[in-house]
Amino acid sequence: MSRIHILMYHRIGDFPKRMPSHRAQYCDLPRFAAQMAMLKRFGYTVIGMDAAVAGLRGAQPLPSRAVVLTFDDAYVDFLECAAPVLKAHGYPATVYAVAGMLGRTNDWAVPEGLAPAPLMNAAQLREVRDLGFTVGSHTVSHPRLAQQETPRIAEEMSVSKRMLEDVLGERVDHFCYPYGSHDLRAVHAAADAGYVTATTCVRAVATPADDLLTLPRKPVSQGNTALGVLWKLLTKNTPRHPPIRRS
Ligand SMILES: [Zn+2]
Repeated sequence: MSRIHILMYHRIGDFPKRMPSHRAQYCDLPRFAAQMAMLKRFGYTVIGMDAAVAGLRGAQPLPSRAVVLTFDDAYVDFLECAAPVLKAHGYPATVYAVAGMLGRTNDWAVPEGLAPAPLMNAAQLREVRDLGFTVGSHTVSHPRLAQQETPRIAEEMSVSKRMLEDVLGERVDHFCYPYGSHDLRAVHAAADAGYVTATTCVRAVATPADDLLTLPRKPVSQGNTALGVLWKLLTKNTPRHPPIRRS
């Protein structure tokens, strides 16, 4: 059966040896480089989100070991650290930007104990796009969508799409739920806004049985070696809850 492993990264860079918390937010650059080399060595093919959609819809065949790489929040370190490694391998990737916070810092995360970090500005996002990567939306302000009133959910979805389309001068088809927080209202809002895909934090492999607006992902944490990531690709996760689907 067609399967795609969608990996979730946040920051890539040079961090203190063991971050005290939120370790899924950090990946040390040498480790990231080793993980990317491992994918090639073990026969994985990294595809972009549009190719993943075509594969999951059955419109084109998927490679037998397909991986999609995603980077949440659009940190400046994507451009500085991750992009050169990805380009060296010829790997596509999708970067999810918080449309109302371009050029600022991850203010939503600091009260939760994360290190402050700069987010890409509009010119940097265009540079990412010009390098061949895909830019998706991660809302306007990074709220937990399932905890918001329905009109706010719709606004976060549609306004962020429009803002990023203005920045890039092209369609923005892909969305990522902040914190993975989503419910049926959020999934319908993603559809109404016109997104083609939306990714969650449900730990599983994506298959054609998935709703494209609740695609599961596997997080990569600071503690994961290249072999640790390989193990994530080989193990079958059974999510605690059935995925939310539009009927
Ligand atoms: Zn985020």
